[in-house]
Amino acid sequence: MLRTPLSAALRRSARAFGTTTAAASSSTSNAAVASVGFQLTEDQLSIQDTARQFARDVIIPAAPHHDKTGEYPTDIIKQAWELGLVNCHIPTEYGGLGLGVFDSALVSEQLAYGCTGIQTAIEANGLAEAPVVLAATDAQKKKYLGRMSEAPLMAGYCVTEPGAGSDVAAAKTNAVKKGDKWIVNGQKMWITNGGKANWYFLLAKTDLSASAGKAFTGFIVDADSPGITVGRKEWNMGQRASDTRGITFEDVEVPDENRLGDVGKGFKIAMGAFDITRPLVASAAVGLSQRAMDEAAAYALQRKTMGKPIIEHQAVAFMLADMAIQIEASRMMVWRAGWLRDQNKRNTYYASIAKALASETANKCASDAVQIFGGNGFNSEYPVEKLMRDAKIFTIYEGTSQIQRLIISRAIADAAKQNA
Ligand SMILES: Cc1cc2nc3c(=O)[nH]c(=O)nc-3n(C[C@H](O)[C@H](O)[C@H](O)COP(=O)(O)OP(=O)(O)OC[C@H]3O[C@@H](n4cnc5c(N)ncnc54)[C@H](O)[C@@H]3O)c2cc1C
Repeated sequence: MLRTPLSAALRRSARAFGTTTAAASSSTSNAAVASVGFQLTEDQLSIQDTARQFARDVIIPAAPHHDKTGEYPTDIIKQAWELGLVNCHIPTEYGGLGLGVFDSALVSEQLAYGCTGIQTAIEANGLAEAPVVLAATDAQKKKYLGRMSEAPLMAGYCVTEPGAGSDVAAAKTNAVKKGDKWIVNGQKMWITNGGKANWYFLLAKTDLSASAGKAFTGFIVDADSPGITVGRKEWNMGQRASDTRGITFEDVEVPDENRLGDVGKGFKIAMGAFDITRPLVASAAVGLSQRAMDEAAAYALQRKTMGKPIIEHQAVAFMLADMAIQIEASRMMVWRAGWLRDQNKRNTYYASIAKALASETANKCASDAVQIFGGNGFNSEYPVEKLMRDAKIFTIYEGTSQIQRLIISRAIADAAKQNA
């Protein structure tokens, strides 16, 4: 049974902690020590517990159906929204809970434990909303974040194109100013919530000759604008509950009042969103890893070979130990990246480390869980086969593992140059 009133617990937590962290409640008088803490507050534990119960009671029983059919989990998202588990970080003045990245990561991990396909559908709202949180005017926030708080609506982040994923600067979708409107033409690809969104964050080129840092502008585009064509739902390897589509823009009129930030600042806004969302994608990968380990440990305890449970064979036990090592390390990196962001400190480097580590851990844990299940692991009647399929996308979306290494290695090079 779900605990009630869950939304009240979440709202109480948001009021009490806002964008705060575990450190805020530390009782130690040592300032240096007080700035770091691993003990979650009671309210953070309450948020975590709410999400955990929801995952156990609602998501896990429904996940196989959505995986097999690809049916969008509308009803589950609605329930999650009613509990306050969707759009956690919309500021309170626009009707949200105003949670920080750290607290939101506690929610993401638990929802992902249930099903990362369903969690991704929920999290994609956060990805679309992040540029709005970062750069929108008060009126834009009231209109577009406000409506997400008033009804269980979805939103999408339209940046990737068929010819431009890692290389965002190569995107070709363009917006041309005509009077007080912009005319948008182009094609976006792999847009999560593409067919379900009420509005999109759109990155479009507004200066064809400028460098990436000045060539793009961000827009908020109503999904029912004439000229938008939503493609078919893509049938992906995993996370099939999530809705991924191509979106075509043909002479779509966007009022200038929907421009997000200054002309030419779109690239920075679109990339800046990742400082908020990469720790959350990483926390979802941690949730999947934890699920893989829990499933594998439970199976290894009851499956016997050569006269004893397989968990007593060191080769199997050590696979579980390696999972735990990687999961704990990944979770700590998520917490660090989220905590830094909540302190208004630059976290790009840590967000990339968290994303790369947690997503690769998820793939290793899911693959080893299949190994521990043996032949049963390869079969879709058992839960770990889905985990292995679901895990793969973590090393691809929101920047591939190679792109995370590019960001990390550039930071190392910059530091080395400064020290030279
Ligand atoms: C299920 C799903 C959901 C998604 N959701 C969204 C969404 O909501 N919104 C959105 O905008 N996008 C979304 N994406 C797009 C996703 O972010 C891109 O697929 C991803 O960034 C990779 O881009 P690409 O597919 O064009 O691959 P490419 O950029 O073509 O990369 C191909 C390979 O080359 C490597 N590579 C590329 N450049 C370099 C380099 N400079 N150095 C080293 N290696 C490199 C990559 O790591 C990768 O291994 C989604 C994708 C999927 C599959």
